[in-house]
Amino acid sequence: MEAKAMVLEKFNRPLVMRTFPVPKLREGEVLVKIEAAGVCGSDVHMWEGRDPRIRLPMILGHEGVGEVVEIKGELRDVLHGGPLKAGDKVLWSRGVTCGQCYYCKVKMQPSLCPNRWVHGIHTTCAEPPYLTGNYADYILLDQRIHFFKIEPDTDLQVLVPASCSGATTAHAFDLSGMEFGDTVLVQGVGPLGIFAVAFAKSFGASQIIVIGGTEQRLEMCRRFGATLILNRNRMSQEERKQAVLEMTHGRGVDIAFELVGEPDAMKESISLVRTGGSCISAGFGEPHGKIELDCFHDIGRKHLRLQGVWVSEVRHTHMALQLIWNHVQDFQKLITHHFPLTQANDAIRVMQTKEAVKAVLLPHE
Ligand SMILES: [Zn+2]
Ligand SMILES: [Zn+2]
Repeated sequence: MEAKAMVLEKFNRPLVMRTFPVPKLREGEVLVKIEAAGVCGSDVHMWEGRDPRIRLPMILGHEGVGEVVEIKGELRDVLHGGPLKAGDKVLWSRGVTCGQCYYCKVKMQPSLCPNRWVHGIHTTCAEPPYLTGNYADYILLDQRIHFFKIEPDTDLQVLVPASCSGATTAHAFDLSGMEFGDTVLVQGVGPLGIFAVAFAKSFGASQIIVIGGTEQRLEMCRRFGATLILNRNRMSQEERKQAVLEMTHGRGVDIAFELVGEPDAMKESISLVRTGGSCISAGFGEPHGKIELDCFHDIGRKHLRLQGVWVSEVRHTHMALQLIWNHVQDFQKLITHHFPLTQANDAIRVMQTKEAVKAVLLPHE
C-alpha cells in the first residue's frame, strides 16, 4: 500500500507531491486515513523556515481528523467512546510527551515536557515511518497519542481547529483564573482570538472587548459574543484605551488575553488590565521582539499577574472539542477555505496573506 503526501523539501518553495510506502505498523501504532487537515498559522512560519524545530524533508500538518484504518496490538481505550477500532472517526491530541520527566511526573505540566514532540512539526519523512504529518492521505500515529472518538454523523472538518488553536486557547483560559462576570479583553482576531471570544462567553464574561484589524474577523467575533469591537486601524491607541475604561467603570479589564504575538499588542494588553488583573499571553509562537515595562507602575503597584502560555495538554483538546460541539454552526464559518491535497500550496498562500481565517485540506475529496 502507498500513500501520497505534500512534502516540504526546501523552505519558501512549493510543497511537492510524493508517494511513500505505508510501513508495517509497530506495537501500539495507529494508521489513520486523513479526512481533513488544518493549515495552522505556524505551518506558514515553518514553510518560511522560521521555526528551528523543522528538519527537511518533512510533511507539514499538526491538525487533523480522520478514520482509523489499522491498529497494531491491543485495542486501545480512547477518551470519548470506549475501545478504538478500525472505521472509527477520530481526532487526537497533537503532543507526544514522555510521561517520565519532572514536568510530566512531578509537576503535572506535560505541555512543558522537554521531550515533547508533535507529528507534522518535529518529524522528518526522510526515514520510516515517513507518514508523519497531516498534509497526506494517511498518517501513522505514535502509540502514546491520545484519541477522541467522534460520532460518525459529525461534520469532521469543523473539529480540525480543536487540535491546535482551540486547545492552546483552552490552555490560556485554564490558566487565567477567570471568574463568572469578569470583564475580558481579547487582543487579536485570528483563530486563537475567535476561540477566546467563544470561551469567554461560555465562562460567563460580563464584557468581551475585542481589538483587531480585520472587519470580517471582528464581525465573526461579534457573532461569537463580543460586546465591544475596537478596530485598531480606525482608532488610535488612546481612543481604544478610553473605550475600554468606559466599559469597565474606569478600572480596565479583569483579564486580557494577548493572542497576536506582537510586542505592541502585549504592551497594550498590560496597559488595559485593571490593578490586580491578569494578562495571559498565548500569541508568541516564535521570537518576535521585546517590550519595556516600568517595574513599579506596570508590575508592582499594579499587582499585575502576567502568565505565558505554551502549547496545550490533552485536557485542553477536550475543552476545545466541547466548545465546538456547543457552537457547530458558528465554528463552521471559521473554516473559510477548502482545498484538495494537491492544492496545499494555495492553502498555505491564503493563510499567509490572511485571506483565510482557517484553511482545510480534504485529501479524499
Ligand atoms: Zn498550530
Ligand atoms: Zn516528560
